[in-house]
Amino acid sequence: MVLRSFARGRIGLPAEGMAALPRAVADPLPADLLDLDIPVAEVAPGRVRTQAGDIRCRAVVVAVDPPAASALLPALTTVRMHSYTTYYHSAPEPPLAEPILLVDGDRREIVANTVVLSNAARTYAPAGRHLVATSVVGPTAPPEPTVRAELTRLYGRSTADWTHLTTVAVPNALPAAPPPQGRLRKPVAMGEGLFVAGDHRDSPSIQGALASGWRAAGAVLEELRAG
Ligand SMILES: Cc1cc2nc3c(=O)[nH]c(=O)nc-3n(C[C@H](O)[C@H](O)[C@H](O)COP(=O)(O)OP(=O)(O)OC[C@H]3O[C@@H](n4cnc5c(N)ncnc54)[C@H](O)[C@@H]3O)c2cc1C
Repeated sequence: MVLRSFARGRIGLPAEGMAALPRAVADPLPADLLDLDIPVAEVAPGRVRTQAGDIRCRAVVVAVDPPAASALLPALTTVRMHSYTTYYHSAPEPPLAEPILLVDGDRREIVANTVVLSNAARTYAPAGRHLVATSVVGPTAPPEPTVRAELTRLYGRSTADWTHLTTVAVPNALPAAPPPQGRLRKPVAMGEGLFVAGDHRDSPSIQGALASGWRAAGAVLEELRAG
């Protein structure tokens, strides 16, 4: 996403599900302030080079995933990443009524978490079905029957009538967050009007990405006011 100060493109995101988050950020902005789907090839102080041309600006905030951030800002320390594999199942009945993330309190460390996605976003499953997403952290993903056996245990009910829809592996899904957690927060100001935001500057989560964005925005305002 490129935020710019003159007209180009409109946004059109569904109100429900994950798209609700960028919509909540984008909706209060003046129309025509965002350019979408334009990869940034290069950043430098006062300039962003995109496939659609250059943008001149007083501050640049690089808010991309860690590998892309390191490519755009070579001065950044390389971030160690974890891969994530998510198993999607369709169920005739939701194994839980609430829109909550279930973690494995017994720490068997096969499943990291599981959630009935359609409890939070009803449109994520057709009428009469429910979508369960279960994630595993690490480079090797267990076979689906192993995961399903864990789900039977975690939800405390049979999963025999569930259908395995697909398994999606996301390499470089999350920045590693080794203890002590208190050292996760990293600087967002890189100097010369360059800033960086994202979950790799805070905790590896949406909350961390938002918190780092808040810090980056504050740092930009401070620098622009000083200049
Ligand atoms: C399967 C999965 C499940 C998750 N579940 C949860 C959860 O339940 N709760 C939670 O808190 N977190 C969860 N996370 C983590 C969460 O998604 C991330 O922490 C968060 O999205 C990080 O936000 P970000 O803005 O730092 O980066 P991203 O969300 O990665 O956004 C970076 C954006 O930059 C774009 N980009 C990259 N390169 C360029 C370029 N050159 N030019 C222009 N754009 C570029 C990318 O396309 C991307 O849209 C999950 C992650 C995965 C993979």
